Amino acid sequence: MAWQWISAGVDPALNGTLRRRQYITNAVPALVLLMVLFYYLLFLTLGNRELAQSCLAGMPIPATGIAWFRWRQACGKPPHYWKACFICQTTVLAGILGGQGTLFGSHFYFLLFFLTAPLIVPINDRLGMTIVCGVCLGWFSLFEFMQWPATPTVQSLGPTIISILNLGVLLSGSIILFIALLAGEHFSDALVNRIQIMASTDMLTGLANRRAFYARLAQLQYRHQLEQQPFCLAMLDIDFFKRINDNYGHDTGDKVLHHIASLLQHKVRPQDLVCRIGGEEFAILLPDTMLDQAFTMCEAIRNTIASSPLSNGASNLHATVSLGLAQWQMDDSEQAFLAATDKALYAAKHAGRNAVQQRRQTAPAL
Ligand code: GH3
Ligand code: MG
Ligand code: MG
Repeated sequence: MAWQWISAGVDPALNGTLRRRQYITNAVPALVLLMVLFYYLLFLTLGNRELAQSCLAGMPIPATGIAWFRWRQACGKPPHYWKACFICQTTVLAGILGGQGTLFGSHFYFLLFFLTAPLIVPINDRLGMTIVCGVCLGWFSLFEFMQWPATPTVQSLGPTIISILNLGVLLSGSIILFIALLAGEHFSDALVNRIQIMASTDMLTGLANRRAFYARLAQLQYRHQLEQQPFCLAMLDIDFFKRINDNYGHDTGDKVLHHIASLLQHKVRPQDLVCRIGGEEFAILLPDTMLDQAFTMCEAIRNTIASSPLSNGASNLHATVSLGLAQWQMDDSEQAFLAATDKALYAAKHAGRNAVQQRRQTAPAL
Protein backbone atom coordinates (compact mmCIF):
# COMPACT_ATOMS: atom_id res chain seq x y z
CA MET A 1 0.00 0.00 0.00
CA ALA A 2 2.76 2.46 1.05
CA TRP A 3 4.86 1.42 -1.92
CA GLN A 4 1.87 1.79 -4.26
CA TRP A 5 1.45 5.35 -3.03
CA ILE A 6 5.14 6.15 -3.40
CA SER A 7 5.44 4.64 -6.89
CA ALA A 8 2.06 5.90 -8.22
CA GLY A 9 2.41 7.66 -11.54
CA VAL A 10 6.21 7.42 -11.61
CA ASP A 11 7.22 7.44 -15.25
CA PRO A 12 9.51 4.44 -16.00
CA ALA A 13 10.71 6.15 -19.18
CA LEU A 14 12.38 8.95 -17.22
CA ASN A 15 16.05 8.81 -16.38
CA GLY A 16 16.93 7.44 -12.96
CA THR A 17 17.55 10.77 -11.24
CA LEU A 18 14.20 12.26 -12.27
CA ARG A 19 12.44 9.03 -11.36
CA ARG A 20 14.02 9.12 -7.92
CA ARG A 21 12.76 12.68 -7.46
CA GLN A 22 9.26 11.56 -8.40
CA TYR A 23 9.35 8.84 -5.72
CA ILE A 24 10.53 11.34 -3.13
CA THR A 25 8.00 13.91 -4.27
CA ASN A 26 5.27 11.31 -3.78
CA ALA A 27 6.62 10.45 -0.33
CA VAL A 28 7.29 13.87 1.20
CA PRO A 29 3.79 15.46 0.96
CA ALA A 30 2.27 12.20 2.16
CA LEU A 31 4.63 12.31 5.14
CA VAL A 32 3.78 15.94 5.87
CA LEU A 33 0.04 15.19 5.73
CA LEU A 34 0.44 12.12 7.96
CA MET A 35 2.35 14.18 10.49
CA VAL A 36 -0.37 16.86 10.50
CA LEU A 37 -3.04 14.17 10.92
CA PHE A 38 -1.09 12.72 13.84
CA TYR A 39 -0.98 16.11 15.58
CA TYR A 40 -4.66 16.68 14.85
CA LEU A 41 -5.57 13.41 16.60
CA LEU A 42 -3.17 14.15 19.44
CA PHE A 43 -4.67 17.59 20.10
CA LEU A 44 -8.19 16.17 19.91
CA THR A 45 -7.25 13.51 22.47
CA LEU A 46 -5.77 16.21 24.71
CA GLY A 47 -9.06 18.06 24.37
CA ASN A 48 -7.74 21.25 22.72
CA ARG A 49 -10.12 21.82 19.82
CA GLU A 50 -8.52 25.06 18.69
CA LEU A 51 -5.09 23.50 18.29
CA ALA A 52 -6.67 20.57 16.48
CA GLN A 53 -8.45 22.95 14.11
CA SER A 54 -5.25 24.84 13.44
CA CYS A 55 -3.78 21.56 12.18
CA LEU A 56 -6.70 20.87 9.90
CA ALA A 57 -6.84 24.41 8.51
CA GLY A 58 -4.07 23.74 6.03
CA MET A 59 -5.39 20.39 4.87
CA PRO A 60 -8.12 21.14 2.28
CA ILE A 61 -5.79 22.84 -0.21
CA PRO A 62 -3.09 20.11 -0.33
CA ALA A 63 -5.73 17.36 -0.14
CA THR A 64 -7.47 18.87 -3.19
CA GLY A 65 -4.04 19.33 -4.77
CA ILE A 66 -3.14 15.68 -4.25
CA ALA A 67 -6.51 14.51 -5.63
CA TRP A 68 -6.02 16.72 -8.71
CA PHE A 69 -2.43 15.53 -9.04
CA ARG A 70 -3.46 11.85 -8.91
CA TRP A 71 -6.21 12.47 -11.43
CA ARG A 72 -3.71 14.07 -13.87
CA GLN A 73 -1.39 11.09 -13.30
CA ALA A 74 -4.22 8.70 -14.14
CA CYS A 75 -4.80 10.69 -17.35
CA GLY A 76 -1.13 10.15 -18.18
CA LYS A 77 -0.32 13.87 -17.90
CA PRO A 78 1.21 14.40 -14.46
CA PRO A 79 2.05 18.04 -13.68
CA HIS A 80 5.48 19.03 -12.47
CA TYR A 81 6.06 16.89 -9.44
CA TRP A 82 8.22 19.26 -7.46
CA LYS A 83 5.86 22.18 -7.94
CA ALA A 84 2.95 20.12 -6.62
CA CYS A 85 5.07 19.01 -3.69
CA PHE A 86 6.16 22.55 -2.88
CA ILE A 87 2.62 23.95 -3.05
CA CYS A 88 1.37 21.11 -0.84
CA GLN A 89 4.03 21.73 1.81
CA THR A 90 3.61 25.49 1.92
CA THR A 91 -0.19 25.41 2.05
CA VAL A 92 -0.16 22.93 4.96
CA LEU A 93 2.27 25.18 6.73
CA ALA A 94 0.29 28.35 5.98
CA GLY A 95 -2.76 26.75 7.60
CA ILE A 96 -0.80 25.70 10.68
CA LEU A 97 0.84 29.10 11.06
CA GLY A 98 -2.58 30.76 10.74
CA GLY A 99 -3.74 29.08 13.98
CA GLN A 100 -0.55 28.42 15.92
CA GLY A 101 1.54 31.37 14.72
CA THR A 102 5.21 31.02 15.50
CA LEU A 103 4.52 29.97 19.08
CA PHE A 104 5.79 26.41 18.59
CA GLY A 105 8.43 27.26 15.98
CA SER A 106 6.40 25.71 13.13
CA HIS A 107 7.96 28.26 10.76
CA PHE A 108 11.19 26.24 11.09
CA TYR A 109 9.51 23.86 8.63
CA PHE A 110 10.36 26.44 5.94
CA LEU A 111 14.02 25.70 6.74
CA LEU A 112 13.19 21.99 6.36
CA PHE A 113 11.69 22.60 2.90
CA PHE A 114 14.78 24.60 2.00
CA LEU A 115 16.98 21.65 3.06
CA THR A 116 14.92 19.09 1.11
CA ALA A 117 14.73 21.25 -2.06
CA PRO A 118 17.80 19.57 -3.67
CA LEU A 119 16.07 16.19 -3.25
CA ILE A 120 12.94 17.35 -5.02
CA VAL A 121 13.62 20.11 -7.54
CA PRO A 122 15.50 18.86 -10.65
CA ILE A 123 19.12 19.86 -10.20
CA ASN A 124 19.33 21.60 -13.60
CA ASP A 125 16.19 23.66 -12.97
CA ARG A 126 18.10 26.67 -11.66
CA LEU A 127 15.08 28.98 -11.71
CA GLY A 128 12.90 26.47 -9.84
CA MET A 129 15.64 25.87 -7.26
CA THR A 130 16.13 29.63 -6.77
CA ILE A 131 12.39 30.25 -6.34
CA VAL A 132 11.87 27.39 -3.86
CA CYS A 133 14.96 28.21 -1.81
CA GLY A 134 14.28 31.96 -1.95
CA VAL A 135 10.63 31.60 -0.92
CA CYS A 136 11.45 29.19 1.91
CA LEU A 137 14.29 31.29 3.32
CA GLY A 138 12.26 34.46 2.83
CA TRP A 139 9.20 33.15 4.70
CA PHE A 140 11.35 31.71 7.46
CA SER A 141 13.22 35.01 8.00
CA LEU A 142 10.00 37.02 7.91
CA PHE A 143 8.23 34.82 10.49
CA GLU A 144 11.32 34.66 12.69
CA PHE A 145 11.59 38.46 12.56
CA MET A 146 7.86 39.20 13.02
CA GLN A 147 6.94 36.36 15.42
CA TRP A 148 3.38 35.86 14.09
CA PRO A 149 0.92 35.59 17.02
CA ALA A 150 -1.17 32.50 17.72
CA THR A 151 -4.93 32.66 18.39
CA PRO A 152 -5.75 33.69 22.02
CA THR A 153 -6.79 30.15 23.15
CA VAL A 154 -3.56 28.68 21.84
CA GLN A 155 -1.61 31.48 23.51
CA SER A 156 -3.19 30.65 26.85
CA LEU A 157 -1.59 27.19 26.93
CA GLY A 158 0.76 26.48 29.83
CA PRO A 159 4.54 26.87 29.39
CA THR A 160 5.13 23.10 29.80
CA ILE A 161 2.72 22.28 26.95
CA ILE A 162 4.31 24.98 24.80
CA SER A 163 7.83 23.64 25.33
CA ILE A 164 6.62 20.05 24.63
CA LEU A 165 5.03 21.24 21.38
CA ASN A 166 8.21 23.13 20.50
CA LEU A 167 10.12 19.88 20.92
CA GLY A 168 7.46 18.07 18.87
CA VAL A 169 7.97 20.44 15.93
CA LEU A 170 11.73 19.92 16.09
CA LEU A 171 11.33 16.15 16.29
CA SER A 172 8.76 15.89 13.48
CA GLY A 173 10.91 18.08 11.21
CA SER A 174 13.96 15.94 11.95
CA ILE A 175 12.01 12.74 11.22
CA ILE A 176 10.76 14.12 7.86
CA LEU A 177 14.28 15.23 6.92
CA PHE A 178 15.74 11.89 7.97
CA ILE A 179 13.18 9.88 5.96
CA ALA A 180 13.64 12.13 2.90
CA LEU A 181 17.43 11.68 3.07
CA LEU A 182 17.07 7.94 3.66
CA ALA A 183 14.72 7.59 0.68
CA GLY A 184 17.10 9.66 -1.49
CA GLU A 185 20.05 7.50 -0.45
CA HIS A 186 18.07 4.29 -0.96
CA PHE A 187 17.00 5.22 -4.48
CA SER A 188 20.48 6.45 -5.48
CA ASP A 189 22.00 3.26 -4.17
CA ALA A 190 19.53 1.10 -6.13
CA LEU A 191 20.20 3.21 -9.22
CA VAL A 192 23.99 2.94 -8.93
CA ASN A 193 23.68 -0.83 -8.49
CA ARG A 194 21.50 -1.09 -11.59
CA ILE A 195 23.92 1.01 -13.61
CA GLN A 196 26.85 -1.06 -12.38
CA ILE A 197 25.12 -4.28 -13.41
CA MET A 198 24.22 -2.82 -16.81
CA ALA A 199 27.78 -1.56 -17.34
CA SER A 200 29.31 -4.93 -16.59
CA THR A 201 26.83 -7.30 -18.28
CA ASP A 202 26.67 -8.49 -21.86
CA MET A 203 23.12 -7.92 -23.09
CA LEU A 204 22.84 -10.93 -25.39
CA THR A 205 24.15 -13.67 -23.11
CA GLY A 206 23.78 -12.14 -19.64
CA LEU A 207 27.43 -12.97 -18.97
CA ALA A 208 29.98 -10.51 -17.62
CA ASN A 209 31.35 -8.25 -20.36
CA ARG A 210 34.84 -7.08 -21.30
CA ARG A 211 34.80 -4.28 -18.69
CA ALA A 212 34.00 -6.78 -15.91
CA PHE A 213 36.69 -9.08 -17.29
CA TYR A 214 39.42 -6.46 -16.95
CA ALA A 215 38.22 -5.48 -13.49
CA ARG A 216 38.40 -9.09 -12.24
CA LEU A 217 41.72 -9.68 -13.96
CA ALA A 218 43.16 -6.66 -12.13
CA GLN A 219 41.82 -8.04 -8.83
CA LEU A 220 43.40 -11.42 -9.42
CA GLN A 221 46.73 -9.83 -10.33
CA TYR A 222 46.59 -7.82 -7.12
CA ARG A 223 45.82 -10.91 -5.04
CA HIS A 224 48.63 -12.78 -6.74
CA GLN A 225 51.02 -9.98 -5.88
CA LEU A 226 49.98 -10.01 -2.22
CA GLU A 227 49.40 -13.69 -1.55
CA GLN A 228 50.91 -15.50 -4.57
CA GLN A 229 47.53 -17.11 -5.29
CA PRO A 230 47.76 -18.89 -8.66
CA PHE A 231 45.13 -18.17 -11.29
CA CYS A 232 44.48 -19.09 -14.91
CA LEU A 233 42.79 -17.59 -17.90
CA ALA A 234 41.10 -19.54 -20.69
CA MET A 235 40.14 -17.84 -23.96
CA LEU A 236 37.43 -19.64 -25.87
CA ASP A 237 36.40 -19.09 -29.48
CA ILE A 238 33.54 -20.80 -31.32
CA ASP A 239 34.75 -22.75 -34.33
CA PHE A 240 33.52 -21.73 -37.76
CA PHE A 241 30.88 -19.52 -36.25
CA LYS A 242 30.60 -17.48 -39.41
CA ARG A 243 29.30 -20.59 -41.17
CA ILE A 244 26.53 -20.94 -38.58
CA ASN A 245 25.49 -17.35 -39.28
CA ASP A 246 25.77 -17.84 -43.03
CA ASN A 247 23.84 -21.12 -43.08
CA TYR A 248 21.16 -20.52 -40.46
CA GLY A 249 20.97 -16.74 -40.09
CA HIS A 250 22.13 -14.23 -37.52
CA ASP A 251 19.25 -14.95 -35.12
CA THR A 252 20.20 -18.62 -34.91
CA GLY A 253 23.82 -17.49 -34.44
CA ASP A 254 22.65 -15.45 -31.45
CA LYS A 255 20.85 -18.51 -30.05
CA VAL A 256 24.07 -20.52 -30.34
CA LEU A 257 25.94 -17.79 -28.46
CA HIS A 258 23.29 -17.87 -25.74
CA HIS A 259 23.35 -21.67 -25.61
CA ILE A 260 27.13 -21.85 -25.25
CA ALA A 261 27.07 -19.08 -22.63
CA SER A 262 24.64 -21.05 -20.46
CA LEU A 263 26.66 -24.28 -20.89
CA LEU A 264 29.74 -22.37 -19.74
CA GLN A 265 27.92 -20.89 -16.74
CA HIS A 266 26.84 -24.36 -15.65
CA LYS A 267 30.28 -25.89 -16.11
CA VAL A 268 32.36 -23.45 -14.07
CA ARG A 269 32.68 -23.14 -10.28
CA PRO A 270 31.02 -20.32 -8.34
CA GLN A 271 34.33 -18.49 -7.92
CA ASP A 272 35.11 -18.51 -11.67
CA LEU A 273 34.09 -15.69 -13.98
CA VAL A 274 32.85 -16.31 -17.52
CA CYS A 275 32.85 -13.25 -19.78
CA ARG A 276 31.88 -12.54 -23.34
CA ILE A 277 34.75 -10.40 -24.51
CA GLY A 278 33.98 -10.24 -28.22
CA GLY A 279 31.54 -11.46 -30.89
CA GLU A 280 32.00 -15.23 -30.45
CA GLU A 281 34.87 -15.07 -27.99
CA PHE A 282 34.67 -15.79 -24.30
CA ALA A 283 37.15 -15.60 -21.43
CA ILE A 284 37.08 -17.65 -18.26
CA LEU A 285 39.03 -16.46 -15.22
CA LEU A 286 39.85 -19.29 -12.84
CA PRO A 287 41.06 -18.11 -9.42
CA ASP A 288 43.11 -20.37 -7.10
CA THR A 289 43.75 -22.75 -9.97
CA MET A 290 46.94 -24.35 -11.27
CA LEU A 291 47.48 -24.97 -14.96
CA ASP A 292 46.89 -28.75 -14.85
CA GLN A 293 43.60 -28.37 -13.00
CA ALA A 294 42.52 -25.59 -15.41
CA PHE A 295 43.42 -27.80 -18.36
CA THR A 296 41.14 -30.59 -17.07
CA MET A 297 38.33 -28.04 -16.61
CA CYS A 298 38.81 -26.69 -20.13
CA GLU A 299 38.74 -30.22 -21.59
CA ALA A 300 35.48 -30.86 -19.75
CA ILE A 301 34.04 -27.60 -21.10
CA ARG A 302 35.13 -28.41 -24.64
CA ASN A 303 33.62 -31.92 -24.39
CA THR A 304 30.33 -30.67 -22.96
CA ILE A 305 29.90 -28.11 -25.74
CA ALA A 306 30.80 -30.62 -28.45
CA SER A 307 28.27 -33.11 -27.10
CA SER A 308 25.43 -30.63 -26.36
CA PRO A 309 23.97 -29.52 -29.68
CA LEU A 310 21.33 -26.82 -29.78
CA SER A 311 18.01 -28.11 -31.02
CA ASN A 312 17.00 -25.96 -33.97
CA GLY A 313 13.56 -26.98 -35.13
CA ALA A 314 13.74 -30.49 -36.59
CA SER A 315 17.55 -30.59 -36.65
CA ASN A 316 20.32 -30.27 -34.10
CA LEU A 317 22.97 -27.59 -34.40
CA HIS A 318 26.42 -28.83 -33.48
CA ALA A 319 29.05 -26.32 -32.46
CA THR A 320 32.55 -26.84 -31.17
CA VAL A 321 34.98 -24.51 -29.45
CA SER A 322 38.74 -24.04 -29.23
CA LEU A 323 40.41 -22.92 -26.03
CA GLY A 324 43.76 -21.32 -25.20
CA LEU A 325 44.94 -21.46 -21.61
CA ALA A 326 47.63 -19.82 -19.50
CA GLN A 327 48.54 -19.50 -15.83
CA TRP A 328 49.66 -16.09 -14.55
CA GLN A 329 53.42 -16.01 -13.98
CA MET A 330 55.40 -13.81 -11.62
CA ASP A 331 57.04 -11.89 -14.43
CA ASP A 332 53.89 -11.57 -16.56
CA SER A 333 52.47 -8.23 -17.60
CA GLU A 334 48.76 -8.06 -18.39
CA GLN A 335 49.52 -7.58 -22.05
CA ALA A 336 51.98 -10.51 -22.18
CA PHE A 337 49.53 -12.75 -20.30
CA LEU A 338 46.67 -11.98 -22.69
CA ALA A 339 48.95 -12.41 -25.69
CA ALA A 340 50.14 -15.81 -24.38
CA THR A 341 46.54 -17.01 -23.91
CA ASP A 342 45.63 -15.75 -27.36
CA LYS A 343 48.64 -17.56 -28.81
CA ALA A 344 47.54 -20.79 -27.15
CA LEU A 345 44.04 -20.29 -28.63
CA TYR A 346 45.58 -19.73 -32.04
CA ALA A 347 47.55 -22.98 -31.59
CA ALA A 348 44.30 -24.81 -30.74
CA LYS A 349 42.73 -23.48 -33.94
CA HIS A 350 45.81 -24.50 -35.85
CA ALA A 351 45.70 -27.98 -34.35
CA GLY A 352 42.37 -28.56 -36.08
CA ARG A 353 39.90 -26.78 -33.69
CA ASN A 354 37.70 -28.43 -31.04
CA ALA A 355 40.87 -28.51 -28.93
CA VAL A 356 42.56 -27.03 -25.85
CA GLN A 357 46.12 -25.70 -25.92
CA GLN A 358 48.06 -24.23 -23.03
CA ARG A 359 51.12 -22.13 -22.41
CA ARG A 360 53.62 -24.45 -20.80
CA GLN A 361 55.70 -22.84 -18.06
CA THR A 362 56.92 -23.72 -14.63
CA ALA A 363 54.11 -22.78 -12.28
CA PRO A 364 54.71 -21.52 -8.74
CA ALA A 365 53.68 -23.87 -5.93
CA LEU A 366 50.34 -23.31 -4.19
P1 GH3 B 1 37.22 -19.63 -36.48
O1 GH3 B 1 36.96 -21.06 -36.26
O2 GH3 B 1 38.54 -19.38 -37.12
O3 GH3 B 1 37.06 -18.83 -35.25
O4 GH3 B 1 36.16 -19.13 -37.54
P2 GH3 B 1 34.90 -18.20 -37.29
O5 GH3 B 1 34.00 -18.28 -38.47
O6 GH3 B 1 34.30 -18.52 -35.99
O7 GH3 B 1 35.60 -16.78 -37.13
P3 GH3 B 1 35.37 -15.43 -37.88
O8 GH3 B 1 36.17 -14.41 -37.09
O9 GH3 B 1 35.65 -15.53 -39.34
O10 GH3 B 1 33.83 -15.13 -37.71
C1 GH3 B 1 33.26 -14.74 -36.52
C2 GH3 B 1 31.82 -14.35 -36.82
O11 GH3 B 1 31.09 -14.05 -35.63
C3 GH3 B 1 31.72 -13.16 -37.72
C4 GH3 B 1 30.57 -12.33 -37.10
O12 GH3 B 1 29.59 -12.03 -38.04
C5 GH3 B 1 30.02 -13.24 -36.05
N1 GH3 B 1 29.49 -12.50 -34.90
C6 GH3 B 1 30.13 -11.60 -34.11
N2 GH3 B 1 29.31 -11.14 -33.16
C7 GH3 B 1 28.11 -11.77 -33.33
C8 GH3 B 1 26.86 -11.68 -32.66
O13 GH3 B 1 26.66 -10.98 -31.68
N3 GH3 B 1 25.84 -12.46 -33.12
C9 GH3 B 1 26.02 -13.28 -34.22
N4 GH3 B 1 24.99 -14.03 -34.62
N5 GH3 B 1 27.19 -13.35 -34.88
C10 GH3 B 1 28.22 -12.60 -34.45
MG1 MG C 1 36.84 -15.02 -33.14
MG1 MG D 1 35.42 -18.32 -34.20
